[in-house]
Amino acid sequence: MDMASKKDVLQLIQQNISFILVGTTHPGNIGAAARAMKNMGIHQMGLVSPKEFPHEKAFFRAKAATDVLEKAVIYKSLKEAISETKLVIGTSARNRKVPWPIVSPSEAAEEIVSFSKTSEDKTAVVFGREDRGLTNEELGLCNLHVHIPSSDEYPSLNLSQAIQIIAYEIRLKALSHEGKLKKQEWDVPLAENAEIEKLIEHFDELMQEVEFYKTDNPRQLLRRVRRFFKRSKLDHIEANVFRGVFAAIQKKLKR
Ligand code: SAH
Repeated sequence: MDMASKKDVLQLIQQNISFILVGTTHPGNIGAAARAMKNMGIHQMGLVSPKEFPHEKAFFRAKAATDVLEKAVIYKSLKEAISETKLVIGTSARNRKVPWPIVSPSEAAEEIVSFSKTSEDKTAVVFGREDRGLTNEELGLCNLHVHIPSSDEYPSLNLSQAIQIIAYEIRLKALSHEGKLKKQEWDVPLAENAEIEKLIEHFDELMQEVEFYKTDNPRQLLRRVRRFFKRSKLDHIEANVFRGVFAAIQKKLKR
């Protein structure tokens, strides 16, 4: 067992993944990016030649993620920012002339999370300028490219929203690797098949007693009623409540 496997995947992600924003023009986007990252448990931000930073607009938009901004590291070039990084994923809103291996957000997240899970090595996701994205040279520094499958009519997302999507996919993968994507627990056990069958039988009886249908061709109706109860995932108490109501109606009818 290596050192890394003893740590929680979520901790590893917080430590080892950084999001690098290249040449960001609007400080508000940097703040919104910090918030989007911290919401998903990603805390390391790198800024390559931001136009205006630090800036009050960035701090305003970051809300409770100002710590991410305070810790953000400023670099002169992308090369410098990723010099110690072993897996670099670049983002691109459009196809480039010489294609690079391209993955979906969920595949990119899988690469990053399985990498971070088995090593303490650094990984980075790189985001481009609001107006021009990343240059071909910058994209050439990356191992993989990720494209968010947006509409052809208008493919480029707002920078911080693209960051939100990638960060969310990473968190989803990390939670799933940790086995923390639990299904919702219900407060009452589900009704057993026999209970549901009795319930359907009881309802059928009641429908006949109130002359809801003619017994000559009830099949379609009964199949629909059956389908309704079968797909409803009734729990034990719910099934009992219905049985109780049907019995109460029958009692009243018999009087
Ligand atoms: N006009 C630019 C788009 C820049 S959008 C271009 O053509 O590249 C600013 C940044 O947001 C991009 O550099 C990228 O990091 C991210 N982004 C926006 N839309 C994206 C998409 N569909 N897929 C991946 N990243 C995207």
